[in-house]
Amino acid sequence: MNSRALVVGGGVVGCLTALALAERGWQVTLADQGRVGEESSWAGGGILFPLLPWNYSESVNRLALAGAARYPALCQQLLQETGIDPQYQVSGLRILPKFDTDTALLWCQLHNVTAEIKNQSLWLPQVAQARNPRLMQALRAFLLKRGVEILEHITLAPLPTKNGHLSAWQSLDGRRFEADAFVLTAGAWSSNLLGAQALSLPFKPMRGQMLLYKLAPDVLQNMLYCEDFYLIPRRDGYILAGSTVEDVGFDKTTTAEAARHLAVRAAELLPALIKAPIIKHWSGLRPGSPDNVPVIARHPQFDNLYINTGHFRYGVTMAPASAQLLGALIAGEKPFADVSAYAFPQQGVASASSSV
Ligand SMILES: Cc1cc2nc3c(=O)[nH]c(=O)nc-3n(C[C@H](O)[C@H](O)[C@H](O)COP(=O)(O)OP(=O)(O)OC[C@H]3O[C@@H](n4cnc5c(N)ncnc54)[C@H](O)[C@@H]3O)c2cc1C
Repeated sequence: MNSRALVVGGGVVGCLTALALAERGWQVTLADQGRVGEESSWAGGGILFPLLPWNYSESVNRLALAGAARYPALCQQLLQETGIDPQYQVSGLRILPKFDTDTALLWCQLHNVTAEIKNQSLWLPQVAQARNPRLMQALRAFLLKRGVEILEHITLAPLPTKNGHLSAWQSLDGRRFEADAFVLTAGAWSSNLLGAQALSLPFKPMRGQMLLYKLAPDVLQNMLYCEDFYLIPRRDGYILAGSTVEDVGFDKTTTAEAARHLAVRAAELLPALIKAPIIKHWSGLRPGSPDNVPVIARHPQFDNLYINTGHFRYGVTMAPASAQLLGALIAGEKPFADVSAYAFPQQGVASASSSV
């Protein structure tokens, strides 16, 4: 009989981890407290590249670039097999001042990223995007086709034990889910799920708010970034403007203050948006981690509990690579990159309340 895995949390990281295990012959169950793909992975912008990557460590960029490189084939397969188009497109990213030109160009050269300075802005023609809600719908349909069991509206309870071997994970309504291996991919909620006994992670939710506009298609053709603000044009003329990074706990409220701030920045960057109505305003909770470095590792106190979380601002970009790393680790294969950079923090933290 195939080994069984329970993946806890059905965002982009959990879906792709479930897929990586199913492709290795595991019998996989994916459980989510809501519907698959409706939290941070739904709320994000879908830029498949770190913003100002030269400000991040190699461990962040290695995972992000490896993840981004897997998207063309993944999205093509999703479209072919599910009929749902994640709208992968290489729309390019234009970075406007201020940024350090020499540092940026050197980083691009060292990482084989095509870059050009045009009118004082940095033009990155290869940067791509995907449309989050469609990506998540396609992933859900694809997992079902691949035989992954999807359980929705099942809230797993925090682990009650400190260490050892897990034989089952219990839901808040008392159901027991047995498996040979357990994978925690619950995004911003992950630290809490490790419970009060086991070592936890120094991760916490970081709210991001976003605005949606609609113009005629092609008014804006490339993604634009300027001083921690971006515009992302979709194929049909929708434009996303984001985002805030707020340390407010598990509060997904959208605020008038953030809407004002984002609208002012949007109008500065693209005057055509001054008169455009705001169609939607939403927020999501990123899994915030120190320096944006996720944990992709076995929990040091359990022999069959694995972690894949903490991807903070770049979870969509990193997820395909992150899932492959964890899949290889669980299957005992040689991973495509060194996983030591994503180890469980040496001491962990005693509870889930530590800060980013
Ligand atoms: C405004 C915004 C813009 C962003 N832009 C980008 C971008 O352009 N590019 C990029 O790469 N990244 C971006 N991100 C970050 C990216 O969205 C996240 O890093 C990524 O979605 C994290 O994925 P995840 O699967 O870990 O978490 P999530 O998508 O949040 O999934 C976690 C899942 O776990 C489930 N869960 C939680 N607790 C339990 C429980 N007890 N039992 C069962 N299930 C549970 C939740 O319901 C949820 O579905 C953005 C995020 C935001 C908010």
